[in-house]
Amino acid sequence: GPVSAPTQVVILGGGVIGLTIAHVLSASTQGEYSITIVARDMPSDLESQSFASPWAGANWSPIGGYDECTYRREIVTFNKLWSLIPTGMVMASSHAMQIMIILHLSQQQALPFRVYYETAEGLDKLWYRNLVRDFRVMDAAELISGAKGGVYFNTVSLNPELYLPWLAAELNARGVRFVKQRMQSLSQAAALAGAGGIVVNATALGARSLIGVEDLNVYPIRGQTIIVHAPSIKECAAFPLESKSSDPSRGEATYMIPRPYPVGHVLLGGTYQPDNWETATDFSIAQGILKRCAAFAPELASKDLRILKHNVGLRPARKGGPRIEVEWRNLPIKDAFATVIAPPFTPSRQGRIMVVHAYGFGPAGYQNSWGAAEEVASLICSNFDSMEA
Ligand code: FAD
Repeated sequence: GPVSAPTQVVILGGGVIGLTIAHVLSASTQGEYSITIVARDMPSDLESQSFASPWAGANWSPIGGYDECTYRREIVTFNKLWSLIPTGMVMASSHAMQIMIILHLSQQQALPFRVYYETAEGLDKLWYRNLVRDFRVMDAAELISGAKGGVYFNTVSLNPELYLPWLAAELNARGVRFVKQRMQSLSQAAALAGAGGIVVNATALGARSLIGVEDLNVYPIRGQTIIVHAPSIKECAAFPLESKSSDPSRGEATYMIPRPYPVGHVLLGGTYQPDNWETATDFSIAQGILKRCAAFAPELASKDLRILKHNVGLRPARKGGPRIEVEWRNLPIKDAFATVIAPPFTPSRQGRIMVVHAYGFGPAGYQNSWGAAEEVASLICSNFDSMEA
C-alpha cells in the first residue's frame, strides 16, 4: 500500500468524461490519488450551453466510423451501464424516500430501440448485434415509410439531468474536490497539481482555446432537440444521418428518446451541424424535427402536443477522432498542491508533469465514457510505474 502522500490529480472538465475518469480513478485505488475536478461548468450547471453533457440524448447507439479503440470503449461502456441498471429491488416506505428512489431508478434504464435504414443489406451482421439485448432485424411490416430495413434491440438510455448529478454525488462521497474555475492554460492547471502531480485534460471544446493545448482539430457539431410531453411513447427510434432521406448539408438526423423521468417526457432530435457554434434555437429547424419525428409516432403531429423545452448543444468533436494520450510536459509548477490559484501566480520552478488528454468524443461521449475512463486510468498507472522505475 502507498506509504507516501497521494498523487495529486487535477482533472480539467466536469462533463461526463471528466466525471467518469474521476469515478474510475477514485474507485480503483486505496487513497493512491487525491482528485480535484476543476471546471468552468459544473455537473449541476444543467442549463449551461458552454458544455455538451447536459444536452445529450443520451443513449447507447452505435454511430459509425469506427476504429478498434472505439469498439473497445463502447463495449466496456455498454456492459458497465447495463450493470448499473437498477433492478427495482428497493422499495420505499416514506414519501421522501420514494422520491429519492424514483430518481435513482431513472438514472439509466433499458429501452427498446428501433433503427431504420434505407437499405436492408448487412443489418444481420452489425458489429454490436451480440452485445445489445434482444437484437433482431425488423420485418418489412414494422418499417416506417422511407425505410427499407431496420433493427430492433434493447439498449441503455441515460437522462443527463439525473446521471450527471448522480456521478457528482458519488465523487463527493469519495472525497473528490470540485473547484468551479476556468483555467487559462495548461500551466495554470499544472501549478495547481504541483510537483509530481497529474493533469487530465477533459476540456472537450475547451481544448481549442486552452493555452498550451490549442488543438485546432477540435470543432463543434451543433445539435438541436425538443422535449415534449408524450406519455404514450415507450420506445426509442432513429433514422440515422447516413440515410439519404436526410439532407447532409442541413445536418438532419431524426430520433426520439422517451425519458424515464419526469414521466412522459420525450426528447426529439435533431440536427448534426458541423462547425456551427450557434446556441440559439432555430424554430424552423424545430418544426422540421417535429414533422420528421411524426413518422415514428403519429401523436407527435397532434396540434395538442405539449412542447416543454427547446435545446441546443454543441458536441465536442475532433478531426481524426477522440484523443486519449499521455504527454510529458515541462511546465511551471509549484512544489505542492494548491487548493485555489490566486493570480498572479508565481511558480516556484519548471517541472516535468504528466498530462493525460481525453477529449474529442463528439456525438458519443456518454457511450464511450466508461471505456475511455478505464483507458485513462491504465495509462496513468503504467506511466507512473515506468516513471518510478
Ligand atoms: P463537456 O460535457 O463539453 O465538458 C467539458 C468540460 O470542460 C466542462 O466542465 C467545461 O466547463 C470544462 N472546460 C472547458 N474548458 C475549460 C477550461 N479552460 N477551464 C476549466 N474548465 C474547462 N453522446 C452519447 O454517447 N449518446 C447520445 O445519445 C448523445 N446524444 C447527444 C445529443 C445531443 C443533442 C448532443 C449535443 C450531444 C449528444 N451526445 C451523446 C454527445 C455527448 O453529449 C458528448 O460527447 C459529451 O457530453 C462530451 O463530454 P465531455 O465531458 O467530453 O465534454
